[in-house]
Amino acid sequence: MKASSYLVPTAKEDPQDAVVASHKLMIRAGLVRKSSAGLYFYLPLGLKILRKIEQIVREEMDRSGALEFQLPILTPADFWKVSGRWDKMGKEMFRLKDRHDNENCLGPTHEESFCNLVKPMLKSYKDLPINVYQIHTKFRDEIRPRFGVIRSREFTMKDAYSYHIDDESLDKTYQVMRSTYRSIFKRMGLSTIPVQADSGNMGGSASEEFMVVSPIGEETLMICKSCGYNGNIEKTPLISHNTNAKSTLAEFSQSDKTSTPNAKSISEVSTTLGLQDKDCIKALALVSDDKPILVFLLGDRELNEAKLRNHLKTNELRPMGNKELEKYNLVPGFIGPQATYHSDLTVILDASIDSNLGYVAGANELDYHYRSVVMGKSHTQFDSIDCSLTRKNDPCPNCGTGLDEEKGIEVGHIFKLGQKYTEAFDIKVLDQNGKTKILTMGCYGIGVNRCMATIIEQCNDEKGIHWPITVAPFEIALVSITKAKEDTAKVEKIYQELVSKGLDVFWDDRDLGPGFKFKDSELIGFPIRITIGKAFLEKAEISILVRKTGEEILHQFTDEKSLYDEVLKIRTQLYQELEDNNHE
Ligand code: ATP
Ligand code: MG
Repeated sequence: MKASSYLVPTAKEDPQDAVVASHKLMIRAGLVRKSSAGLYFYLPLGLKILRKIEQIVREEMDRSGALEFQLPILTPADFWKVSGRWDKMGKEMFRLKDRHDNENCLGPTHEESFCNLVKPMLKSYKDLPINVYQIHTKFRDEIRPRFGVIRSREFTMKDAYSYHIDDESLDKTYQVMRSTYRSIFKRMGLSTIPVQADSGNMGGSASEEFMVVSPIGEETLMICKSCGYNGNIEKTPLISHNTNAKSTLAEFSQSDKTSTPNAKSISEVSTTLGLQDKDCIKALALVSDDKPILVFLLGDRELNEAKLRNHLKTNELRPMGNKELEKYNLVPGFIGPQATYHSDLTVILDASIDSNLGYVAGANELDYHYRSVVMGKSHTQFDSIDCSLTRKNDPCPNCGTGLDEEKGIEVGHIFKLGQKYTEAFDIKVLDQNGKTKILTMGCYGIGVNRCMATIIEQCNDEKGIHWPITVAPFEIALVSITKAKEDTAKVEKIYQELVSKGLDVFWDDRDLGPGFKFKDSELIGFPIRITIGKAFLEKAEISILVRKTGEEILHQFTDEKSLYDEVLKIRTQLYQELEDNNHE
């Protein structure tokens, strides 16, 4: 491809609304342009990258035995009413009516559509297992579209759904997907870690997210360098270790009521009493599906909403309003676990509260706390569950070593769904004994555009992007710096020869200065750059530069064939590095 007949709308300046490297570089390198909030135009260079990523995903999915489909993006409300998600999906779903007044939505995911499609085709256990997928557009009206294509409102997803006669078969496919995902990400040069993820409260027994560790990530990952445990913070259990609370609190007498004027927050209370936050008990008054909930945590801990939601089997959780606090006789800022509660209240104690120790807790009376409240046996009527967020240095749930904390971007998700959808759609087959059996299901997603952006997050430097060769828009940039016609003709001959031998070359033949062309090639991030300029004309020397490492080879030009051999060697090596990666 010649640059003179291509479109290279690069820019020097970062776009004003971009805060992360990938967003800035995608725009500056001329890969995408913004259409409006969360919507992007893909330009030819950007689209090539996207297609290469899709192709890697497709090849690996096909290799795993999955079957590719393409379903309509527009889906009828009726499908969603079967699973109950028409009412549950909320505002993230783009809904629209057709001319006959029928309700539809632009699919944010396709469990319902695939269930509808496969149901009449699956009759016997012999038809199973089956793993169906598509690589197609999804719409989600994200509340905060941001970071360019990382969180957009229209994006391409590979979504796969597997159907099984039993859990054993589901687990087999789940493990195949797990290793397929590793191959997919490694082939595209993206380093990811699978982390244990929250399966939500809608059934489903196992779930892992593939995370790209990055400071811009919206997810928090707890990582154990010692045993290899990786978990999303939402999922990571907190193993309690509250032994030293005893010594600090031993001096206080039981339930010693103390005046704590205006001390409402934990830090105000602990400062007033000269203690540490962890010596106090924190109360959270919440409402879940109209039910009042009171949660008690150690003062230095934060609530893990996902754990609490799962326990309550709900999605909805909000703080109690003033009227509700009044209704349940709760005095905000001074709520304590020893109070006698309104019978409607569900009281939950975090498991890290030691029922044998004394803690400072609200007296449920304005401006008063108790200095030492011991839960003891009288509190066994409260549910004690793990609902704290873990944090750095908490013990690893596997081996007890202090955990590390990282931020991560989710690029893929594998999930054992269980029978939520197969039951709703009544998908059953005859088993070996001729009995009907409801199937069980898995689902597996990858965000294609998000992969593209996260590769840039991992592969950039001050000059721009350095694409892994497997997903580069072109593998090789040929930069020519010649003026005379006969010199340009020599370059043309070399270019034609390389292309005819099958190399993927982007020839920057534009009538621009060398500095400009070098900058563009580094910004766009072609993995290999061949420069033919003064040194070639004077002493037949051609520079071959590896973008990522900056390594330069000076090739003594004799003929096109030997240049081709040299470039091919480097190209093969770059592919090899990703391959080697793949078999780690
Ligand atoms: P997130 O928590 O980031 O919103 P999700 O849990 O909603 O992700 P899934 O429903 O599991 O995501 O979708 C599968 C994949 O689709 C994700 O792993 C991610 O790579 C991609 N994805 C999800 N939402 C978006 C979006 N708004 N823009 C781009 N990619 C997305
Ligand atoms: Mg989401």
